[in-house]
Amino acid sequence: MMIDKQAIRENVRRMVVKVGSNVLTCEQGLNLPVIDALSRQIEQLIVGGQEVILVSSGALAAGVRKLAIEKRPEAIPARQAVSAVGQAGLILTWEKAFTRYEKKVAQMLLTAEDMTNRQRYLNARNTLNTLLAWGVLPIINENDTVMVDEIRFGDNDNLAAVIALLMDADILINLTDIDGLYDRDPRTHEDAGLIPEIKTITPEIERYAGGIPGALGTGGMLSKIKAARKVTAAGIPMIIANGKTDQVLEAIFSGSPTGTFFQPKTERLPSRKCWLAFSLKPKGIIQIDDGAARAITAGGKSLLPSGIAAVSGQFSAGDPVQFARQDGQVLGNGLVNYNSSDINKIKGLRSSEIADCLGEKPYDEVIHRDNLVLTAVTLS
Ligand code: GLU
Repeated sequence: MMIDKQAIRENVRRMVVKVGSNVLTCEQGLNLPVIDALSRQIEQLIVGGQEVILVSSGALAAGVRKLAIEKRPEAIPARQAVSAVGQAGLILTWEKAFTRYEKKVAQMLLTAEDMTNRQRYLNARNTLNTLLAWGVLPIINENDTVMVDEIRFGDNDNLAAVIALLMDADILINLTDIDGLYDRDPRTHEDAGLIPEIKTITPEIERYAGGIPGALGTGGMLSKIKAARKVTAAGIPMIIANGKTDQVLEAIFSGSPTGTFFQPKTERLPSRKCWLAFSLKPKGIIQIDDGAARAITAGGKSLLPSGIAAVSGQFSAGDPVQFARQDGQVLGNGLVNYNSSDINKIKGLRSSEIADCLGEKPYDEVIHRDNLVLTAVTLS
């Protein structure tokens, strides 16, 4: 599936714009001219009929400068506190910038755990939809103050991708301090070449990205490529462009060559399938035999106990798990109807034998088709 880049302007109605720390901060703290320029361009897009959701980094970097400490602290509580200081200034600065256009803004701080929980995921979507309907610009950041690995997005590239999926955005625009993806780090290699368009994210592309770390934010190019992998697998295009370039958003929408464009890989996935595929952290792995793999991937079937070869991890009924071939190839994600110890007992059995084994049989399927998504197919 190919999208004509020139057609973006006509087709995009809702977009997520992510701006990185390197764009938003400078020696003195927050980079006010850049924030002014971006807010003006975002305002123009909104006036033109677009819906914009902003994902803004920069809390930690701004906090470091505000507190006049030398660098990001290593200790987690200190980092969380620095980020809390910086977030206040960050949202205030955005608010001031948009006030020039009488545009109201709203702050949303999220954790990955919020997206894992279906109810909170839907609540976040309702809040965002309400803000957009009111003409208020949502400005999202990770809630750094409660960060521990289990509930972290890890970086705002990932957060922005999850928001694009959550809100069924038409495009994800990732603004950084480099013009796009290069085959080498352009900050250290003069002859580095910009890649204008990527149809498939190959290991070679990942290798290029791996050589281009971020300076201030946590992401670097590799986390942007991972984000692109997620959204393009769900049918959403992404652009990496330089947020410090004059009129960068206008350039993207006027169709002039800007940044690196990632082609979507499929038709759009429905939002619930996106949630199953990309927003949940699997709590275990179910290995299935070849017959079950065929039935699921080619036959559109549910996962039954008879096709299960092994279970790893401890999880409860309702939890997200991955299912994989016995050679380890992950095929997809789903929500289980049985906990891990019950699945261990019923693996290999026919559905009619479940009641005898467990004393009851609430479900025939271990993962019902409605609660299952094939990621190997969409990601390949
Ligand atoms: N949430 C972090 C901050 O605002 C940024 C994370 C990132 O840049 O990826 O400082």
